[in-house]
Amino acid sequence: MASCTETGFPRWSPIRSDAKGVMLSNDVLGPSPTALLSELPEILAAREALLRRFSQSKTDRLFALLKHTVSTVPRYLYLAPNEAELSLDQFPLSNRTTLAQEVSLSRSFDKSRLSYCTTSGSTGAPLTVYRDAASRYECYFESYRLVADRAPAALESIRPGRCGVLAVSDNRLKPIGGAINPSLKNSVMLWRQAGLGATGLEPWCDVTASGTYCLPIVAGRPSAILAFIRGIQSQGQRVRVAAVLCSGENLYTNVRRQIKSALAAEVYEAYTSREGGIMALSCGNQSGLHVIADRARLEVLESGGVAKENRRGTLIVTNLENWAMPTIRYITDDSAVLETGKCACGFEGSTVVTMYGRDSVYFLTRSGPINSSLLDPIFESHCLEYHVCQQEKERFDVAYRSRADLSAHIRQGLTRLLGDVAIYIKRQSDDDGTSKRPRYEVASRLAAGRDI
Ligand SMILES: [Zn+2]
Repeated sequence: MASCTETGFPRWSPIRSDAKGVMLSNDVLGPSPTALLSELPEILAAREALLRRFSQSKTDRLFALLKHTVSTVPRYLYLAPNEAELSLDQFPLSNRTTLAQEVSLSRSFDKSRLSYCTTSGSTGAPLTVYRDAASRYECYFESYRLVADRAPAALESIRPGRCGVLAVSDNRLKPIGGAINPSLKNSVMLWRQAGLGATGLEPWCDVTASGTYCLPIVAGRPSAILAFIRGIQSQGQRVRVAAVLCSGENLYTNVRRQIKSALAAEVYEAYTSREGGIMALSCGNQSGLHVIADRARLEVLESGGVAKENRRGTLIVTNLENWAMPTIRYITDDSAVLETGKCACGFEGSTVVTMYGRDSVYFLTRSGPINSSLLDPIFESHCLEYHVCQQEKERFDVAYRSRADLSAHIRQGLTRLLGDVAIYIKRQSDDDGTSKRPRYEVASRLAAGRDI
């Protein structure tokens, strides 16, 4: 949810990095107030578009989306709307391949004006996800409002023009920036590198007389939040955080405890993805992630077919927020147990009880753990297929398929990232193309996200 390689607002500043690491600059520390204000009219227009959509579909968001889809998305026109009977069950399952086709985009929007972001591709071919302005606003701005509504202490401490949300990433290549969020009292959302800790936040948040930085919500992958904690600890900084939002990886009990004790804040967990937006959120009772009925419908794909509840299997998501590229009954890479019932918090509906297989792969290097998605630029758009595996602390095996010999390019790129390690590179011939492995794959025999 945090950041995205996308067009439209917010206009991210590029990170300046070289072999030595990230170079600090004003762009890295935070956007200028002028830049934030210049983007506000566009953000407000998107909010207006979302409010119009809400007013048209308030009674039943799912029905409104399905009606829109069978009327404007070429892939689904054959379902010819008999409005009285329109239901989710009529829609076929979709996946990366079907969603990537042009016929999955709604004709209601001019494609050149849509924003987009790309999935990581670490578990398959990357998918470009398009969003219209209203969807983009709901996905990136309203989502934090959902969290603030669940965390009264955070909502109370958010103030106009000050940092309301600090979203941190431990991926050096992730875009950074900021935006004013009209859904959160016109506070400022900042996207930054986790390792910076609170460095450079002075213009954006209140700092008490004792030097404590006030940050209502800190968000990111659990591993990025840990990197943020290491950043503030190594610089001797103090922060006051009301709520922490973790998403993107499994949040293990020991990591939750570690974050809670280091930041003295309530820790929430969300199930999010580029394709599905924010789909489920924990309530504080540790009873799982409650599906946000206004945002998503979840089903489970079992070997015997589709089940709606109380089952373990691959999650199928219907995203109610994206009208430009309706994502309906989309088969994810995530495996979970979905149950229906009541929670002590008052919630009634579907809950993701246990989540499997959401770990990001990390490589362990002499200079610390690195996110494997840093490898993407070395391979993507150069290779038809690639597989990278950290076999031992200082040994990496690479297999790739490409029309050109890229061994020197790959070795150079990996050495820059991983340091002086043994790299074994094998170029596969086209005859090997029948392999059942994913086309893009990274793995480590040493560590997954939980070990750092
Ligand atoms: Zn609950």
